[in-house]
Amino acid sequence: TVRTRFAPSPTGLLHIGGVRTALFSWAYARKQQGVFVLRIEDTDLERSTPESVQAILDGMHWVGLGYDEGPFYQMQRMDRYKAVLKDMLVTGTAYHCYCSREELDQMRAEAEARGEKPRYDRRWRPERGKQLPEIPAGVAPVIRFRNPIDGVVAWDDAVKGRIEIGNAELDDLIIARPDGTPTYNFCVVVDDWDMGISHVIRGDDHVNNTPRQINILAALGAPLPIYGHLPMILNADGQKMSKRRDAVSVVDYSEQGILPEALLNYLARLGWGHGDEEFFTLEQFVEWFDLKNVSPSPSRFDRDKMLWINQQHMKAADNARLAELTRPFLTKLGCDTEQGPALPAVIAMLKERVSNLVDLAAQAGYFYRHEAAPAELAAQHLNEEGRARLARFRAILAQTEWETAALSAAIKTFVAAEGVKMPLIAMPLRAAVCGTTQTPSIDQVLALLGQQEVLKRLDAVLN
Ligand code: GLU
Repeated sequence: TVRTRFAPSPTGLLHIGGVRTALFSWAYARKQQGVFVLRIEDTDLERSTPESVQAILDGMHWVGLGYDEGPFYQMQRMDRYKAVLKDMLVTGTAYHCYCSREELDQMRAEAEARGEKPRYDRRWRPERGKQLPEIPAGVAPVIRFRNPIDGVVAWDDAVKGRIEIGNAELDDLIIARPDGTPTYNFCVVVDDWDMGISHVIRGDDHVNNTPRQINILAALGAPLPIYGHLPMILNADGQKMSKRRDAVSVVDYSEQGILPEALLNYLARLGWGHGDEEFFTLEQFVEWFDLKNVSPSPSRFDRDKMLWINQQHMKAADNARLAELTRPFLTKLGCDTEQGPALPAVIAMLKERVSNLVDLAAQAGYFYRHEAAPAELAAQHLNEEGRARLARFRAILAQTEWETAALSAAIKTFVAAEGVKMPLIAMPLRAAVCGTTQTPSIDQVLALLGQQEVLKRLDAVLN
């Protein structure tokens, strides 16, 4: 069976690049009726934090990518890594190296002097008939992997195609530090092996680790997974996304009022395509997804396109659900949504006019509190003439049946009687009741606000 994993390092917030990696791994497993594993790579004690672990779990929950197994934590697997290290020392696929920092520095300097890539000279690598140096007293050794000296490491990358690296390029990698703790590449290898990972789908910043990992897996007699390295996501200027410059964390997008399904839809389109399809559900994505259709070159983040996709998902979303997602934004604006019209009805009226939940909340504000029109609007629409007309219309509104059709008819009759054009009553009404002239059809807005509230607001403006 297909088994994929998402293996974030908990050293910050959940990055959208990480979400895309998770999405592709998740979708591949779903499509093949496989298993998706979450693994937290928390062995970097200086950079890993519990807050970041929580941010990853929260982020995965928010976007709605569920995992079938895990979360596994590498820090809880130390005994296992140490057992494998021990086996490798016994079988000779790894060895102790007692080189001091000074010796390594000297090797580097000599290699550079020869114009070569700095490398470890395999001084402590046991060979038949070779005399190893004398073990220095009081030095704790590292453990190095016995990398093959000749030949090439090759794999058919599911995204990038065939990749080959000569073993001559690869050092005998340090797989355990002097204190006995395993290093990064080694933990990944043992985990991918133990967790039976069949497809390693990850960012192409790891492509240089892959030949080393393949060699270690081979030395362990472990089956090799298929590797697929996803190209980076660049910002609009074509630069690598940065925390300081760009919105990179999932939290940024939730705060910008992007729906989780829209973020996933947009991320799916970054570097992958299915014909001209832009707007689709997660189910459709799973059905269409294939690693073959992932582009090997980096893609650029396009905010306008993301907002357009978000808008499509908002139109498609259930209004009650949108209301629950929008409520916190309204609360932040100081609106009490328990008072006033039912939020789903307000959302239904406004959602086609916006592209995110922040704007939706901003436009819904006047349903929950009466705000005075800004001076310029008031001067234009609530001048003496406008107010006098509003006062005459108020008397009619007090007698009108309170539903959209009747309100619409009342407005039409009134403008006919006044001998003016529609905007000369609609605009003053909007300015007075909503504090803005940017609203949907005024009869609908009045109907939703309710008679008592509308008359109260008119009185506040007119008196
Ligand atoms: N922990 C690595 C990262 O966050 C991913 C390692 C992997 O997928 O193999 O970049």
